[in-house]
Amino acid sequence: MRDSRLHAKRGACALALCAAVAAPAVASAQSGGTGGGTVYVATPKVTKVTCLRKCASKHRARGGSVLKIAGTELAGVNQLTYLGSYGSGDDVTVKVRAGSTSRLQARVPLGAVTGPILLTTSAGGRSAPSRPVLILPPLPPEPNPELSPVPGPRVNGAPRLETGTSRTKAYVDARPGVTFSFRLSGASAAALKVELMSAADGTVVKTWMPQEAAPDHVQSISWNGRLGRAAAKPGRYSFRLTAASADGSEARSSQTGDVQRDAFDLYDHIFPIRGPHDFGGAGARFGAGRAGHIHQGQDSFANCGTRMVAARGGRVKFKQYHAAAGHYLVIDGDGTEIDYVYMHLDQPSPFSEGDRVFTGQTIGAVGDSGNAQGCHLHFELWGAPGWYDGGKPFDPLPSLQAWDSWS
Ligand SMILES: [Zn+2]
Repeated sequence: MRDSRLHAKRGACALALCAAVAAPAVASAQSGGTGGGTVYVATPKVTKVTCLRKCASKHRARGGSVLKIAGTELAGVNQLTYLGSYGSGDDVTVKVRAGSTSRLQARVPLGAVTGPILLTTSAGGRSAPSRPVLILPPLPPEPNPELSPVPGPRVNGAPRLETGTSRTKAYVDARPGVTFSFRLSGASAAALKVELMSAADGTVVKTWMPQEAAPDHVQSISWNGRLGRAAAKPGRYSFRLTAASADGSEARSSQTGDVQRDAFDLYDHIFPIRGPHDFGGAGARFGAGRAGHIHQGQDSFANCGTRMVAARGGRVKFKQYHAAAGHYLVIDGDGTEIDYVYMHLDQPSPFSEGDRVFTGQTIGAVGDSGNAQGCHLHFELWGAPGWYDGGKPFDPLPSLQAWDSWS
């Protein structure tokens, strides 16, 4: 707090003066910098935080909740920072607008975690951190795979909207991606806009401007978890449709900060075995001893014939048979700088070298081809530049466990 205020004022005043104004005060006079005069900078203060809407309880918020903040000198507040628990790495800042000098409302973005909050005014005044605000994990997205009417009152003259989103769980580089569908009725729209919002911080990460089709016609757009060439950050996203009629009346499919409607969670990988499995014992671990070498992957045991998918899309680099590895496949991950290695498949993979594979696509089945005791997937991860190409294998178990937790 003290450091940041010093930092904020550095260059605008002498250090001694800055140190003086850094002392706690409800309001303080600070150097204006240019003319040597003083500018009154109100210092907001948080006295009480309660959860107002979409709460777990009055004192327990979750991502998507709306907080009511009581305090003093709140009029100029335009930013709220959720300070979280671990340094600045988990801080999330949202824009807010005070309703009065003594209270304001703020939504809780999905990226926010339990911890104090801090208010900042447009003039640079900052509150002290509040007492910790308890923030629970968000509820899962509401499934809305079929078109459903947008709830709430309709703006006069604006079209009526129905929307739907194909899935609540999506993977980077999967095909099909996640599809947002919509239909307009009642009035025609002069302009359509579909926005993809990141629920972590409420920002719009992608925008589509579809042409309006005939009234009552279902239109859709699809997204594969990429922003240009890069993979989008994992987390909650939602689609929002805005339809404006010629006279300027607007209809929206969801309100700002809504993290449920037409929302889905994006993940960067899927667990490759699509059935019951376990990670075996010490001998199945990366680094376990083998005759003449070291185990370079993690084994996952499953029934013979269990479907196996690509944990992440990419291009097939090798598809071969080896006396020890059996039928195996190496996929150069698209945009990951990682090679994904799958061994002991029960049959040769249907994919060939050079083929493009998408995340979650079936690449084969668990088997015991080659030198294997019991059906299992021997899985390796190799860093750039890749498998026996100058890269090095690394322990895939933490990744596998993470992917297993959500897929
Ligand atoms: Zn193995």
